[in-house]
Amino acid sequence: MDFKEPPTLCDTAIQCLLHHEPLAIQALQEIPGELFVPLFTAALKGRHEKILSAMVKSWPFFCLHVGPLSMQEAQPTLWKVMVESLFPAENPAFRSPKLRILDLTQHPGCKTKCPVITTTCKPCVRSCAYSERSLMKVQSQCSNSSSESEGQSPKTTMELLVSLSLDRSFRENEYFALLLSKVEQSLGSLHLCCRDLRIKNLSECRSALSHLDLKCVSHLAVVKASLISVLSLLEQAVNLDSLSLSKITCRSFNGRAFRNFLSQLSCKDHLKELSLSSFCLTDHLEHVLRVLPADLDFLQLPFCELSYSDFKFLSQCPQANHLKLLDISNNSICWEDCEPFYCLLENLSGTLQHLAINHCLLTDATLSILAPALSRCSHLRLFSFSSNPITMPMLRRILEYLTPMTQLKYVIYPIPVHCYERWHGRCSLDPQKLGAVNAQLKIMLQEAEREDMRWITYTG
Ligand SMILES: [Zn+2]
Ligand SMILES: [Zn+2]
Repeated sequence: MDFKEPPTLCDTAIQCLLHHEPLAIQALQEIPGELFVPLFTAALKGRHEKILSAMVKSWPFFCLHVGPLSMQEAQPTLWKVMVESLFPAENPAFRSPKLRILDLTQHPGCKTKCPVITTTCKPCVRSCAYSERSLMKVQSQCSNSSSESEGQSPKTTMELLVSLSLDRSFRENEYFALLLSKVEQSLGSLHLCCRDLRIKNLSECRSALSHLDLKCVSHLAVVKASLISVLSLLEQAVNLDSLSLSKITCRSFNGRAFRNFLSQLSCKDHLKELSLSSFCLTDHLEHVLRVLPADLDFLQLPFCELSYSDFKFLSQCPQANHLKLLDISNNSICWEDCEPFYCLLENLSGTLQHLAINHCLLTDATLSILAPALSRCSHLRLFSFSSNPITMPMLRRILEYLTPMTQLKYVIYPIPVHCYERWHGRCSLDPQKLGAVNAQLKIMLQEAEREDMRWITYTG
């Protein structure tokens, strides 16, 4: 079997192996290493659990990343199979495993295995750089001392990279229980490295958190908690790229909790994405944004009850000057003076790719002022402005502004007010009128030769 043969032959060989599981498992001892990645990909796709298990046990490379292989449906079962296969008992049927990093996170930025680079001391792009139990730290500790402590030898230390979602039911979560039992079984040589952590109902997940090193977390999302309880997480999660807080209660902007929150945020030097949702910040956005690093990529502030002065600050602060994504949906933007919002769009014209301003009470008058600035956002790919009370002539005008924007592929538009008997409360939508609106938009897109641009709306 030669890897240099045409791919079709390689595919045929792999399919043949997959149809004979015992043969495939036996063949893992002899097949060339180059065949492991395509065989693993095919086994994952075909959900061949036994082969996957055997492959993890005999993986001939340093790392294995499943991120590039999208497997939404079968994930829980297959991830379990792979985790169960870690630390097999000594078995001559398997070639001695070289696997040190099993990465079960959905990170699309790396290949199934990292190429071997001898010039750098970091053999895997995703290896943990923060925890005391990480492979790199253990390696450097052992090279500094002559003796290797039990369970802390670089030859046996492994990293298991995971994304975790903790809620009330985590105790019944078999996957989480399996992860903990593997950590226990490893006697200290398995580092459970959680990169993406979602917590719902924080107060009930405290015990689960004690098993994790929050220094490893790069993406943290917390839903439903008091600000004071979030602080202890932020204190430990010092390496965040992305923070999402939703339904967080804060008693007072003058209290110690809010001041500590700001001081925790000011330490997040790598933060690129911030999402605060259902977090009432009226007239206080300035305090939050000021402490963040300049040039955030993503800023999401839905349901934050933003005021005119919040928008004014947003249009002036360096933190929101290079955004790629801005979501300010569900904030009322019904002021006569739209200049701050206009300036904000002008500032973002060179970077903005995704803009969401749904449910903002935007009227024809406001949109006609904003449209010229919007049309200068030449990198915009998605524009969502559903559920705003605008008329059909305005919708047509907006379409005319947007069709020359060649990068823009998705527009989520509001149903014009004439389609409803009463717009407030969205009562009695007339499907015929909506059908006529869709037909008109379609003709306009054809005339502008922009059939590649999708215009969709929500009727719910
Ligand atoms: Zn790697
Ligand atoms: Zn780690």
